[in-house]
Amino acid sequence: MIIPLIDKLRQEHRLSAEEYKALLLCQDADTLKYLQEQAREVSLEQFGNRVFIRGLIEITNHCRNNCYYCGIRKGNQSVLRYELTREDILECCREGYTPRFPDFRLARW
Ligand code: SF4
Repeated sequence: MIIPLIDKLRQEHRLSAEEYKALLLCQDADTLKYLQEQAREVSLEQFGNRVFIRGLIEITNHCRNNCYYCGIRKGNQSVLRYELTREDILECCREGYTPRFPDFRLARW
């Protein structure tokens, strides 16, 4: 029942909410092994066997979500919040740039 969902996800790149739920709740070892194999194949197809290094510039640690495991979740009142200015962001790029490290991602949660 789950294997066809894995194949569908690989082919169509999406599932319904109920299908994702069934996949996430699956605990069958053989099915999970199949899922890992599929994920590994997709990863190799997309990225090969290389490691890509990127700098992540976190523009702010304000987040409207409340994921329980996360230190910067909305409900955590004890975290010191910040938001970078345009100049702060550019300074991070200047400081972090090297020819081996030329790519930056801007993240805003
Ligand atoms: S930063 Fe990400 S993990 Fe943390 S609360 Fe926001 S959405 Fe969730």
